[in-house]
Amino acid sequence: MRAMQRGRVSSDDADRVAYARDLWPRQQIRTRAGEAAIAPPAVVVWPERTEEVASVVRFAYERGLPIVPFGAGSGVCGGILPTPDAIVLDLKRLRRLRYVDEAMLRARVEAGILGQHLEDELDARGYTLGHFPSSIYCSTLGGWIAGRSAGQCSGRYGKIEDMVLGLDFVDGTGRIHRIHRDGEDAALLPLVIGSEGILGVVTEAELRIAPAARERIFAGFVFPDVSSGLDAIRRIYQSGLRPAVARLYDPFDSFMKRRGSVKSKVRPDRPKPTSPAKALGMKALVAALEHAQALNRLVDLAPDRVLGGATLVLVWECDRELGEVEREEAKRIALDLAAKDLGEEPARHWLAHRHSVSYRQSPIFRAGAFSDTMEVSARWSRLEALYDAVRKALGKHVFVMAHFSHAYPDGGSIYFTFAGAAKDDAEAMEIYDRAWADALAAAVDAGGSLSHHHGVGRSKAPFMRAEQGEAVGWVADLKRTLDPKSLFNRGTLIPEEVLRG
Ligand SMILES: Cc1cc2nc3c(=O)[nH]c(=O)nc-3n(C[C@H](O)[C@H](O)[C@H](O)COP(=O)(O)OP(=O)(O)OC[C@H]3O[C@@H](n4cnc5c(N)ncnc54)[C@H](O)[C@@H]3O)c2cc1C
Repeated sequence: MRAMQRGRVSSDDADRVAYARDLWPRQQIRTRAGEAAIAPPAVVVWPERTEEVASVVRFAYERGLPIVPFGAGSGVCGGILPTPDAIVLDLKRLRRLRYVDEAMLRARVEAGILGQHLEDELDARGYTLGHFPSSIYCSTLGGWIAGRSAGQCSGRYGKIEDMVLGLDFVDGTGRIHRIHRDGEDAALLPLVIGSEGILGVVTEAELRIAPAARERIFAGFVFPDVSSGLDAIRRIYQSGLRPAVARLYDPFDSFMKRRGSVKSKVRPDRPKPTSPAKALGMKALVAALEHAQALNRLVDLAPDRVLGGATLVLVWECDRELGEVEREEAKRIALDLAAKDLGEEPARHWLAHRHSVSYRQSPIFRAGAFSDTMEVSARWSRLEALYDAVRKALGKHVFVMAHFSHAYPDGGSIYFTFAGAAKDDAEAMEIYDRAWADALAAAVDAGGSLSHHHGVGRSKAPFMRAEQGEAVGWVADLKRTLDPKSLFNRGTLIPEEVLRG
């Protein structure tokens, strides 16, 4: 094994602990409780090419050793949780952009490349993949493909599965498959995309690209309530308009966004709170979170007009003339539904802060509370009922806000952000688990999906049978075929008992 011969392998404690988990908030609670790694893997290996990945897998296959593919570890569902005998395959050295085919608008890229590096390389040539997850600085192409990721501009460019034309993939025996939409193995492509590393490792992909957007058109509206805002988004996409971004914030989330945008403006007359003041604020927040149910009731009782209604931001990435025509039509639809035109500012503000919100978790955990996000999707006819059901289920345990993003002609997704607190970490874990279990059950009951883009990992695997029925067994059959010794990511995506048969 060349990777190992060349020293690209480590069994140092620091590396083993660093690679023992992803960013699943449940593990963050355990880390805070003093258990940084439940079971650090045996070794971490950094292969540099597909053939090296294949030889590591063959080594593991001969010895029956578990393997965990590792992109950047930004997954939030417990996809990465190795056992002590496992080999973690960090793919970040497979990071080359092999070519850009300008005539065909395609690029071939290795799977370990970090998202922002890929965008920078394409942008330098005048192109974009159009995939901008909030985690773009800390996630890889392979991780996106494994989890069916969605970027912020999915309204124009689609999700990652819409962009992948072909894959190089190493299965659980070490065999390399070169799969392409135009090739013999085409049927395997949609099965590997979204397989969360349980069938093998994606090492390279051919991707559809687009000319980089040089113009952006912005619009913002406030609706009397969530219902009319959702109606507007549905009509916008069903009438053929294609904003790259459409985000509708529920009244409380809208209220918080407005506070955020006021705070983020420079106010020399009002100095920023000092650290003790901040600490005090956080303490008060944590104390309030221990009464999450009452807090949710308070928000529910506040009339929408006090919170200010539901805010929609729209961003187009296309040439100016087309964007302006689309904006006018979107405005007509919005005003027809009693919206007020807010002009460009809210959408411009969103763009300027598009990655900042996601990195605010640490202070919450440090203060003894926890937070997490849950993203579900459904067809339009079920979306509002899904919103009500999941919000109610989560709201029994944790404080909840929500926005709607990723809209399509046939449906859309809801992104819940929630936070809770308890007397100690053991109780926090109980609340966390109950909140998730109730919310996932509510999502399935309301006809929604368990996940729109974060994937399933270990956090949602126990509910896969409820959502997918016997199809979960077919996935297990496929795993038995491609990974006969079940080396890859056991426990992720499909429940262990389904795999045992
Ligand atoms: C702050 C923040 C914001 C986020 N925002 C978004 C967002 O906007 N949209 C979104 O979709 N997600 C988002 N996520 C979730 C996360 O970034 C995605 O799930 C991402 O796709 C994970 O990529 P990764 O490279 O970090 O994968 P990892 O976390 O390393 O791995 C995820 C899973 O994929 C498997 N895997 C990784 N690479 C490969 C490979 N090459 N072959 C086979 N299996 C592989 C792993 O074994 C694991 O099961 C966010 C996460 C954070 C922390």
